[in-house]
Amino acid sequence: MKFSVFFLIFFSFFIVFAQTSLSDADRESLDQLIMDLTNASKGEKKLNDIKVWPGNSSIRVAVYPSEKVSYKYNLLKDGDTNRIYIDLIGVDASGFRLPDVKYDSFLKKIRLGKRENGIRIVIETGKVESYNVVEMEEPWRIVIDYYGEKIPEKVAEKAPEQIPEKSAVKAGPKEKQEIKKSETQTKKTEKTAAKTEIKAKKKKIIVIDPGHGGKDPGAISGKLYEKDVVFKLARKIEKLSKNYEGIEVKLTRNKDIFLPLEERAAIANAMNGDLFISLHANSFKDRNVGGMEIYHLDNTRDEYADKLARVENKISENVTLLDTILVDMTMSYYVGDSLKYSSEIGQGLKKNLQKYGVKIRGYNKGALFYVLVGARMPSLLFEVGYITNKTEKDLLQKDEYLESIAKSLLDSIAASKVK
Ligand SMILES: [Zn+2]
Repeated sequence: MKFSVFFLIFFSFFIVFAQTSLSDADRESLDQLIMDLTNASKGEKKLNDIKVWPGNSSIRVAVYPSEKVSYKYNLLKDGDTNRIYIDLIGVDASGFRLPDVKYDSFLKKIRLGKRENGIRIVIETGKVESYNVVEMEEPWRIVIDYYGEKIPEKVAEKAPEQIPEKSAVKAGPKEKQEIKKSETQTKKTEKTAAKTEIKAKKKKIIVIDPGHGGKDPGAISGKLYEKDVVFKLARKIEKLSKNYEGIEVKLTRNKDIFLPLEERAAIANAMNGDLFISLHANSFKDRNVGGMEIYHLDNTRDEYADKLARVENKISENVTLLDTILVDMTMSYYVGDSLKYSSEIGQGLKKNLQKYGVKIRGYNKGALFYVLVGARMPSLLFEVGYITNKTEKDLLQKDEYLESIAKSLLDSIAASKVK
């Protein structure tokens, strides 16, 4: 506050002296600056940032006000153009510039308008099938996902019998329609067999997400941080992947930086990944508890998994918001393939890590991990062990052990039945 008042006085003097030599444009931007500072000194809530990640007929938008605010949102459907608006109550956005966004047939336009009691963000899109809204902490923000009706190309190319039974059973009317569509599209792709063959030989892109990073250390055990353990493992996977012809590994972060949760799946989407794996390490007060776990995104309400998800999610305690995630049809598309990968990787680890005496506590486990929400590909959260467990803490600091995990993981992906 003091700082802005000081600048206000400083610039007022500056203007008195400089006004005669200023061009109109300069004068305007100075006036704007003074207006911004005046508003800031009134203690109004400001709009700090809007981040937009366009995906394959999906959009993720994160809105960052300067503090927690009340908000309203709605979806207005009007033919081929849908309008989503978010009203932030009591927020001032004067001087705020919208980010440069590449518009396409799905993300058509973003506008920012003043309202009597705040501001309105309007996003014009193609047909929206579903959306979900989540409040996140540190800093407080709203993250909204919109999913269009176009199904991703990769799913469309699959033969109908390859669509896992489980997801077909779970599919609601919308999903069933999409599966039907994918059947027709498959017939189309058969005609262009040559083209498909070239695509089939394409490398599988595996996006590895080392959890946490930067200011967020994750779990801590003495001097050992979760963020460092998983980063070291991610590097090993990346390095070792050069030995696998059909696999290309990309990392969501390649240094010790902080990445908000919602950015991670968005990065994987931008990388056009075929599989997304977020790496984590667990902790518990009882040092005897240990073992590995592999999770996929699901609405299973298991008490243990719920607790773990809460630790990793950093989402405002609001069950109704978590429930809205279930609307995300992307989840049911990929749950079948995620399960297949989970079994294959889990069984591989069981066999290959036997000599270390590490327990594989479970795979094929579902939980609501926000980091996996919105990934347009099969996705897993891999808890590589307990850094609080005496044996595992030692092992997780050994190159040889991390390399064994990396190799087992890559072997399973290379041999996977998921195409
Ligand atoms: Zn974690």
